[in-house]
Amino acid sequence: MGNIAILCSGGDVSGMNPALKRFVEYSFEKGLTPYFVYHGYEGLIDDKIVPAGFKDVSGIITRGGTKLGSARSKRFMEPEYRRQAYENLKKHGIDKLVVLGGDGSFRGMDKFYHETGIQFCGIPSTIDNDINGTDYCLGVDTALNIIKHSVDAIRDTAGAFRRAFVIETMGRDCGYLALVSAMTSGAEMCLIPELEYDLERYSDCYRKQIAAGRDYFIAIIAEGVKINGVKATDVIVDWFEKEIGFESRATVLGHTQRGGNPTVYDRLMAYKFVTYAIDGLLSEHTHSVICYTKSHFTYKSIDEVTGSRYQLDPALLDLARSEYQQVLCPLPL
Ligand code: ADP
Repeated sequence: MGNIAILCSGGDVSGMNPALKRFVEYSFEKGLTPYFVYHGYEGLIDDKIVPAGFKDVSGIITRGGTKLGSARSKRFMEPEYRRQAYENLKKHGIDKLVVLGGDGSFRGMDKFYHETGIQFCGIPSTIDNDINGTDYCLGVDTALNIIKHSVDAIRDTAGAFRRAFVIETMGRDCGYLALVSAMTSGAEMCLIPELEYDLERYSDCYRKQIAAGRDYFIAIIAEGVKINGVKATDVIVDWFEKEIGFESRATVLGHTQRGGNPTVYDRLMAYKFVTYAIDGLLSEHTHSVICYTKSHFTYKSIDEVTGSRYQLDPALLDLARSEYQQVLCPLPL
């Protein structure tokens, strides 16, 4: 049936290893010979392309990151290096690629397809969950669970002292991780790029709550939020000390959110994404991204996926508005 390869490009996420395992197994099931490309598009250019077998994926399902390594490749932006990548694939008899990555990786692949005819299917993979056209990106659930463990742990210690904890999540332009984490961890404050907020309202509410006995606060902030040009995390730590009168600590979760043992949901999504990607490549979907929307998988064009910016689900934002925008502050009578 031919040769097919898989690579990881851009930021790594937990769920990539389960995807590699499914890729090898389902390729064989379909009569394809699977290949691994190490280090993303750099590996295509440098011919880090090797046949993959069951042994290569044995035991990796539990591991975060990616066995293949990932990379950003400046060289892949240049036509002559894409030509070299094509020559390498041709040498191995590979005409189909599964690409785990984000918008940039898909744009690069689309260019490559139109130049060379190498078919591809993209699998949206980023913990920010900010790829347009899909409700879910691989790695998000594991990241949310890691944040949950961290916030739960901080809550345990928060209660012991009169303190405010300001926790910063990833999400430069998209507040998905911060918002879902705040809603599911019971945070008292959430600042994300998509929601307006008024610190006066928070201040009024917190004063009432302190009078009613509250002795700690948890705030969750997306890394991209700025207040008067300054990182919101730093401003809010200061604000708790000066405005609310609570000692305050910042915790920047950073890259801890990227790794860790993939959750059941990410393993299942990896399984499904890869299966649909290979099925698509074996049918008429020669250059698409497999998206998950309204509980269904659909193949979308690169233009649909990269043509406009991802918008956080308006229904989710509406749900959160009373608590994190209006700060309605319900208190017992
Ligand atoms: P992500 O896939 O997570 O959005 P990047 O935007 O860094 O990550 O893109 C990953 C890689 O995709 C880049 O390092 C580059 O090799 C390739 N790429 C991105 N845009 C293009 C493009 N317009 N043309 C060719 N290659 C591209």
